[in-house]
Amino acid sequence: MFLGAFTPKFFEQVPIGQADEGVRCRLCPHRCALRGGAAGICGVRSGEGGGSLPFYGRVSSIAVDPIEKKPLFHYRPGESILSVGFSGCNLHCPFCQNWRISQTTETAGSFVSPEELVAKALALGLEQIAYTYSEPLVHAEYLIDCMTLARSHGIANVLVTNGCVNGEAAGEIIPLADAANIDLKCFSSRTYRKVLGGSLSAVKDFIKASAANIHTELTTLVVPGFNDSVEEIDLCVDFIASVSCEIPWHISACHPAYKVKTPPTKAETILGIKKRAGKKLLYRYTGNIKDDDNDTVCLNCGYVLIRRNGYVVKTPGLAKKIENDGKYRCRRCGAVLPVKY
Ligand code: SF4
Ligand code: SF4
Repeated sequence: MFLGAFTPKFFEQVPIGQADEGVRCRLCPHRCALRGGAAGICGVRSGEGGGSLPFYGRVSSIAVDPIEKKPLFHYRPGESILSVGFSGCNLHCPFCQNWRISQTTETAGSFVSPEELVAKALALGLEQIAYTYSEPLVHAEYLIDCMTLARSHGIANVLVTNGCVNGEAAGEIIPLADAANIDLKCFSSRTYRKVLGGSLSAVKDFIKASAANIHTELTTLVVPGFNDSVEEIDLCVDFIASVSCEIPWHISACHPAYKVKTPPTKAETILGIKKRAGKKLLYRYTGNIKDDDNDTVCLNCGYVLIRRNGYVVKTPGLAKKIENDGKYRCRRCGAVLPVKY
């Protein structure tokens, strides 16, 4: 067990004498009753001492990644980001690509204080930190400490998350972030609840709150037989378009992992979804397949703004702040672009 400067935030005491007396975690829709100091469904948050995070600051992995790997395509394209991962998750997706750290807290790790994390980013000359790999939001108190400190040093915060938390936590954490990539795993409340152990309505609310406040991109891992029907895809597209047709949508192929043993999603399935989504969404990108058409093109004049070859990124068409209003424009026609630095 690692001990950090933990300040509990999302716990409440249930009065002695009530049927569920003890501590309740109110971070996510599970609202776990943590009787006798038990851990919640995520395995991360405990009722001990009135509510605690025994894994506060325990980091399972830390690495420097291209920001495109998060994936973020319209936020600081071509830059590197310090990526920090934890263990545990409040969902249990059978196709989890990171299940070795998300479905257990029994992972190797070491304590990294918020001060050490920010110092590492500064020492590496990195101007952004991603909270990623497993589900970061279940470590909310550690995130809040890191994000507050990072921001005070001019470092941007990026969330890579399932977005499945209650409004109170979303309201505290989103304002500390600068960008997010959020999973939209399917568009069935029943599937979210029964198969993934989550809540579609909480995810939708998180996406809306994120898009209203910070740079937001979405990812859907397309799993054969799970979420690849035309009806399901159309529901996802309609929802994203209702939030904003400018949100970049990453459509990724699933590879066999954890409980999913089916062959990888076919490239033609991913490309078909990308094409179909083009009727309503302005920016669609593919992941985990070979696709020579993942560049960002000016919608006004067709000039290539951001050219991607795997994680090699060039920005031939981005003109920075030529109107001195902080907005990025197409170098050829001057159209304002939905790209942020
Ligand atoms: S964050 Fe964890 S402990 Fe809290 S309600 Fe969700 S699953 Fe339960
Ligand atoms: S939400 Fe993400 S980390 Fe958690 S189980 Fe699902 S895919 Fe894995």
